[in-house]
Amino acid sequence: MNTNSINTTQACFCGANCDFSSCCQPYINKEMLVQTAEQLMRSRFSAYALGNAQYIYDTYAKSSQAAQSVENIDDWSKACVWIALKVYPVVNNVNNTTEQFVEFSAFYIINNTLCELREKSRFILEESMSPTITENTEVKEQLSLNAPLKQWRYIDGDIISHSELANIKRNDLCPCNHYPTAWQSKKGKKFKHCCGK
Ligand SMILES: [Zn+2]
Ligand SMILES: [Zn+2]
Repeated sequence: MNTNSINTTQACFCGANCDFSSCCQPYINKEMLVQTAEQLMRSRFSAYALGNAQYIYDTYAKSSQAAQSVENIDDWSKACVWIALKVYPVVNNVNNTTEQFVEFSAFYIINNTLCELREKSRFILEESMSPTITENTEVKEQLSLNAPLKQWRYIDGDIISHSELANIKRNDLCPCNHYPTAWQSKKGKKFKHCCGK
């Protein structure tokens, strides 16, 4: 799915109570820089939902990028339907300005199975002067004025649980109905007419 086909007044993929256009879209389009680890985490989930592998790759910490490839991220993001995100209340981030943790559950469907991945992710503030950060002129000016600029990046995470919640039949109510998702226009549909397509 590409962002141009998205109705930008729809709820954001990340489940925050706001429109995609005023939530994760400006980060994914590289028109704005994230201010917090949680914003980065949310925007990375939305990028998974959209299949924007380049954004996911670019927001890995440098030390983690070597183990990744845009192609592998692309395959994984598109093999799943990313239906919802739940972010848990923050703990132990007090006074930590260079490393933060965000714990979340990502709900996704693969092979007609609803899965939950619960992870505690670690984010670091990293100097990012790489030209891959942005093509946006205003952001570029901001970068050169405030150099060196530090940006939140995803470095690694501990998987707390990874479980299969349900096997979904074609005529079941689509599981996305049980979560706050971006797919609200499809509300009430059967799986086969919704995320199962
Ligand atoms: Zn969002
Ligand atoms: Zn659905």
